[in-house]
Amino acid sequence: MKCKRCRCKAEVQLRHHNSAFCRDCFFLFFERQVQRTIERERMFTPEETVLVAVSGGKDSLALWDVLHRLGYDAVGLHLALGIGDYSRSSTEKTEAFARARDLRLLTVRLEDDGVGVATVTQFTNRSPCAACGTTKRYYFDRVAVENGFAVLATGHNLDDEAARLLGNVLHWQLPYLAKQRPVLEPNHARFVRKVKPLYRVMELETAVYAFFRGIDYVVDECPNSAGATQLAYKDAMNRLEVAMPGTKLMFVQEFARSAQPAFTAHAPTGTPGTCERCGMPAFGAVCSFCRLVGEVDARRAGRRRAAGA
Ligand code: SF4
Ligand SMILES: [Zn+2]
Ligand SMILES: [Zn+2]
Repeated sequence: MKCKRCRCKAEVQLRHHNSAFCRDCFFLFFERQVQRTIERERMFTPEETVLVAVSGGKDSLALWDVLHRLGYDAVGLHLALGIGDYSRSSTEKTEAFARARDLRLLTVRLEDDGVGVATVTQFTNRSPCAACGTTKRYYFDRVAVENGFAVLATGHNLDDEAARLLGNVLHWQLPYLAKQRPVLEPNHARFVRKVKPLYRVMELETAVYAFFRGIDYVVDECPNSAGATQLAYKDAMNRLEVAMPGTKLMFVQEFARSAQPAFTAHAPTGTPGTCERCGMPAFGAVCSFCRLVGEVDARRAGRRRAAGA
């Protein structure tokens, strides 16, 4: 198998692009793909500093690496989620990555605020992923706004987007389809623009990129991800991709280009107000994160009372 670009020995085959590349040409191909996506979707400009949400996994570290190499000023944001050894290892890998490249990293330990995922799950009836999702969304905006960033980039890849799209279509989640875009503009002064520069890049490509670049990332999945419905959608999309290479890319790309505008009328109407407890955006008097914290506090107080009685 020969590299499509330079004709030397190829190291990676990308069936969905009907291509194969040697290592150096793959780097070029990967970086160009990301650069083109950023420019075409007007995600951010070289003058803006980008906050990159980094979990310690291959996608987010590959994203941070490639943005840095493309010359963007990219600062990392890592949330230490408080999920036992998985979180400890994620934080270690993220901090080591930043140190080795002399990159600026903001780390927020949710446990320090009493809202680690394990703690919240223990004191509420929420599932770990529901608690985690609410908390992550909240801290992404809050840390970005408080530190003066206008844009937050996440490492969602093509496989994530295809699985999410499949789930939204199977259940005809019209409001979610209306919001499934690679760029989400803020509709409140304390929200920031959210962008997904890897949304056209397959998970296989980020894995190869991370491997070729020698990025040391967390290989283990979060222990709470087992059995998640998202994995069933990913599995279904993988089968289609094997039978028909290019399916994921076409599904996601054509949705964004052609179908997505048909759903915009179903976007939730009205702009959010302001949370009376924390000042962040809220639909209602209190934002969903403060409601979560309220539940934890109430349950904690109840248990203390019961223990003291
Ligand atoms: S699997 Fe669930 S708990 Fe684990 S990081 Fe993802 S959303 Fe959070
Ligand atoms: Zn080559
Ligand atoms: Zn709030």
